[in-house]
Amino acid sequence: MTQQFTSACSLNCWDSCGFKVTVENGKVTKVEGDSLHPITQGKICGRGRMLENKTNSKDRLLYPLKKINGKFVQITWGQALEEISQKLREIKAQYGTTAVLHSHDYANNGLLKNLDQRFFNCFGGVTELIGSICWGAGIEAQTWDFGQSYSHSPEDIYNSKHIVVWGRNVTRTNMHLFQHLQEAKRRGATLTVIDPIFNATAKIADHYVSVKPGMDGLLALGVMKELIELGLEDRHFIEHYTHGYETLRQLIEQTGWEEIIEAAEVERAVFSTLASMYADGPTTTYLGLGMQRYQNGGNTIRLIDALVAVSGNVGIPGGGVNFGNLQVGRSFNTAALTLPEQKKQHRTFSMMKQAEEILQAVNPEIKMIMVTCGNPLTQVPDTNVVKKAFESVETVVVIDHFMTDTAEAADYVLPTTTVFEETDIYYSSMYHGYMNYGKALVTPPGEAKSDLWIWTELAKRLGFGHYFDYSVDQFLRMGLGELERNGYTLERLKKEGHLLLPIEEVPWKNKVFLTPTGKYEFTSLTAADKGLDGKLKKLFPKESPVSNPNLAKDHPYTLLSIHPMRSNHSQHYPLINNMQTIKVEISQDIAHEQELNEDDQVRVFNKRGEIKGIVKIMKQAHPKTINIDEGQWGKFGGSINMLTPSGESDNQLGSILYDCLVSIEKISH
Ligand code: SF4
Repeated sequence: MTQQFTSACSLNCWDSCGFKVTVENGKVTKVEGDSLHPITQGKICGRGRMLENKTNSKDRLLYPLKKINGKFVQITWGQALEEISQKLREIKAQYGTTAVLHSHDYANNGLLKNLDQRFFNCFGGVTELIGSICWGAGIEAQTWDFGQSYSHSPEDIYNSKHIVVWGRNVTRTNMHLFQHLQEAKRRGATLTVIDPIFNATAKIADHYVSVKPGMDGLLALGVMKELIELGLEDRHFIEHYTHGYETLRQLIEQTGWEEIIEAAEVERAVFSTLASMYADGPTTTYLGLGMQRYQNGGNTIRLIDALVAVSGNVGIPGGGVNFGNLQVGRSFNTAALTLPEQKKQHRTFSMMKQAEEILQAVNPEIKMIMVTCGNPLTQVPDTNVVKKAFESVETVVVIDHFMTDTAEAADYVLPTTTVFEETDIYYSSMYHGYMNYGKALVTPPGEAKSDLWIWTELAKRLGFGHYFDYSVDQFLRMGLGELERNGYTLERLKKEGHLLLPIEEVPWKNKVFLTPTGKYEFTSLTAADKGLDGKLKKLFPKESPVSNPNLAKDHPYTLLSIHPMRSNHSQHYPLINNMQTIKVEISQDIAHEQELNEDDQVRVFNKRGEIKGIVKIMKQAHPKTINIDEGQWGKFGGSINMLTPSGESDNQLGSILYDCLVSIEKISH
């Protein structure tokens, strides 16, 4: 029997698509875009379609596994749950609950994925990770500036005269914005793309600006300098709705043109073009994630925010600086799901530096790591140290679909369900405001169980099963909270498949901000509360010719690790044969300098590690730039994070993955 169902994408992505899923004889056979979904409009990307292959893959984990003498053996769920709960009980009694580390990420989204925190909070509170490898520096930066990171609705782009896509390859990571870019251009808006790599989005742009990786903040500072020198700043907005402008103005005045041009490697005329564009608004800015993955990443986003504010593009239709859209996630009552008040003990580690923190932990040491929705051995920077840290811990438990690099390093591996085998509500706090419903459509293979089932069974054994004694629908209603009372009911969502959440289309339109002063803060009081200097600065990446000329002499090239086209981070590499080799993309000048040709075998290295791959020469990329897509598995050559550093951004909540200098050499046969 063949049936079609409305469902949703669970992958951590800007677009949070609606699906039409075909099920034949109990098996998912096709995943397509839902033509009735207002954002998706029938189109999805290869990563979404790949969820069918993922669900049906013969390599899925089917049974609980335990490592005995270095080899995995199949055990029953009963044995796995008894042994894991016994270990948790012993650790709690002997060392306290914070001897357990919950290492998590956002590989699979869903409202009920928050229930892992409910489990750990009811257990007594464990060591948790704070910050984000992906977007942490930018979210914190916007929190300092605006009070929150909010985006304009996708349709507001049609109010823009100019569109600036700054470091986001929309064709690869935000495909439904791409169609809006094309349409807005047809209606007369100009499109500017700023990126070190001339990507597919740049191909449709009216203006393309190539910037030195990590120097985007200097570019923004220069554009503000030009605006102010030309008297084009929005005096009214600055005087009435901002705090700390004088300090910014002094910084701009003290920074010379020569220094800006030399660091950003952008021609002087470009600053004038961008300044006129920002002054001639409404101008909207879409930010990508890469530029904030440097030690100066928070300051970079803050300088771009400041440019948008100084030019009068905040809180107006067609303006804005779009990074995260946390209005979406904040619509739900996650506290009702996670029960933070149940925590008796608490300790936090930095997500970026979790390996060092594990190795250095005392009072208590880390005795157990439980990994959910993540693959830290591939995704966390400085892989060699992460491996060492995981090997140093007595018990590692991983919940996953596949035998990932992290699962390989575990003592227990628990097989979980995919999006089509569980029921949940899906949304993304990155772009639009729709929530989507996806119900369990097929039976999981083997003995795979949902994360919720696993938490419930462990909770029962640990004596707090009553906190999990709810049906899936009851949990979903709990998470909907106030939304249910305002008509956004689970029943309606089930019937309609998607609902637009009640969020602002044009954030900050009343010019009241969620900062301590209620104003847009060029100098942040939130930062000051945290003991940090909230002033805007002239900052450079940690690894750059400006900040570390000696290192740059030894390792002259900047290494980027952008999101792969066909995989959501590491998730799909084992499913796609031609992704299972490492492609080292290099700028033309590197090919020339190192006498490298297409398909040459090379070694890319620095003091943290090395990686081998095949050369691909980028047609147009900023000089001295190399890219290797992130997410590669150990068995296919290894993760780019063998080379990346594990530090924290200036505001402490982001990674510095891209802040990475390397060398390259040909491997002779
Ligand atoms: S990965 Fe993103 S664009 Fe692709 S189907 Fe999922 S939500 Fe849509």
